Amino acid sequence: MKIRLANTAGFCMGVRRAVDMVLDLQRAEPPLPIVTYGPLIHNPQTLELLKERGITEVRSLDQVCGGTVVVRAHGISPQEREILMEKGVGVVDATCPRVARVQAVIRKHAAKGEFCVIVGDQDHPEVKGLLGFASAGGVAVPDSEATEILDAVPSDRDICIVAQTTQEVRTFDRVVEILRERCGEINVYNTICDSTRKRQSEVARLARQVETIIVVGGKGSGNTARLMKVAQGEGVPAIHVETDEEIGPTLLEGVESVGVTAGASTPNWMIRQVIDRLREIGMSRRTGPLAAVRKLADVAVMTYCWAALGAAGLTATCLVLQNRPVTWLPLGVAMLFVFSMHLLNRIQERSGAVRFNTPEIAAFYARHRSLLTTLAAVSCIMAVVLCSWMGRYSCLLLVAMIVTGGLYAVPLLSRFQVRWLKWKSLRDLPGSKTPLVAAGWAMAAAVLPAIGSGSQIVWSGLIVSFVFAAGMVFWRTALSDLLDIQGDRIVGRETIPILIGVKKTRKLLLGLLIFLASFLGVAGAAGWIPRVGLGLILSTAIFGVFFFVYRKRHLVDRLAVEALIDGNFVLAGLLCLVYG
Ligand code: SF4
Repeated sequence: MKIRLANTAGFCMGVRRAVDMVLDLQRAEPPLPIVTYGPLIHNPQTLELLKERGITEVRSLDQVCGGTVVVRAHGISPQEREILMEKGVGVVDATCPRVARVQAVIRKHAAKGEFCVIVGDQDHPEVKGLLGFASAGGVAVPDSEATEILDAVPSDRDICIVAQTTQEVRTFDRVVEILRERCGEINVYNTICDSTRKRQSEVARLARQVETIIVVGGKGSGNTARLMKVAQGEGVPAIHVETDEEIGPTLLEGVESVGVTAGASTPNWMIRQVIDRLREIGMSRRTGPLAAVRKLADVAVMTYCWAALGAAGLTATCLVLQNRPVTWLPLGVAMLFVFSMHLLNRIQERSGAVRFNTPEIAAFYARHRSLLTTLAAVSCIMAVVLCSWMGRYSCLLLVAMIVTGGLYAVPLLSRFQVRWLKWKSLRDLPGSKTPLVAAGWAMAAAVLPAIGSGSQIVWSGLIVSFVFAAGMVFWRTALSDLLDIQGDRIVGRETIPILIGVKKTRKLLLGLLIFLASFLGVAGAAGWIPRVGLGLILSTAIFGVFFFVYRKRHLVDRLAVEALIDGNFVLAGLLCLVYG
């Protein structure tokens, strides 16, 4: 089954901003009691997790009795804001700037005595808040069929018409048309936000290319319901699901292509869970050797066997860059080291972000925990035994790397009750994961073979190969951090994209690729590496293509993304084996 994911699916700017503000607030020292006025996003699982982190929700202002109150992206009315001020509580305003702009339009026209019409759902919190600004009178019109409400709009007064930011364009236009015919002076402001417009036009386009559309989002979410309407308007069956559990094996019987989109407050991991479910259904339809190969490939990626092969490939490239013969011993050590360390950390991480980011993998690890733990331990021992043939110093270095990697997620300091120290384990150090993983791989691929070769170390080759390996693995890990950003944020993990922001991380990734390609070029021209090493510029170009594909969201299958990225290392290693 072909799955196509809409580019615009998931959090809009306003919702993402509100979620980030709340999570940043929660990290403040000393911790503040935080309540949000209404649910922050439409996802019960996430709300439960936020509750565990001390962020609760109140449905009415009567329930507010202290602490800090967060105003959601939908905004509130001036009257509600006044009540909050009177209560003397701290207010953090996460009103989306685009909603604030609509509030300003209504306030301005209400001050001139104009009657305000808001094309939107009267029960929606954004519309309720907007109506509060219509001090000269106003009404919410859900659609052009609401004749009673439309008739009540005074025809002898100046009218200001705005739209709920997530309103459907056609509905807004129809209401404006009706009111133009029956009222005098009308000021029309199409305040449907860009994000909504793009989302709706994309779902319409997608609907023309697939047999069925799946819209992921809360059952009470107005903008999700409108996406359904747009898809159905194109004559395509559309299914609204809140979670992947609603997609039974027979739901898409006979469907060969499906488009997926999501409402503005649907987190990435919920979309991913739905995609995983669709993928599972697609896989269950396949039979024969190809299906078996695909399943095997999935297991290889989930268990880091494929990443281990990638580590072997990277080691081969480092050996070539150092002008050394490619032999199996360093390749084997790097493979076993990478395999065991990733496996151990994933096993320890079972209750963390993995359950949001990659639920399929989390379930796999829960099912095979003891087998995978044994495999990790055996590989660790085998890596040390193999490395002992490379010499004492290599072996000692490897043991030090294993101890550091093994202890990465272990809360070493908690037992000593170090209250003033925020970080109990290496993993808690902000942004530590990506450079540590990069350093671990680069040490295994470039430094261990150099120390264990028995011949003299050529420093130029060692430095170039270390920088190349560390840079490429840094890129790989940071890209995966970008994909996991929403789940990581929710569980409080501080990865590089969370620390410096998504835009800066993207720039960093692009800059890193340009730097690595130029660095190899300079090193080749200066004779620090053999000429064949220049071919590795191709690997950086391949990552450049992945980056483009990631931006366009063409690759919806997370396991496929990981397989392709580590496949780049395998390919580079094979090329080096052939030419080196
Ligand atoms: Fe802001 Fe638009 Fe999102 Fe509404 S849909 S919260 S206006 S970005």
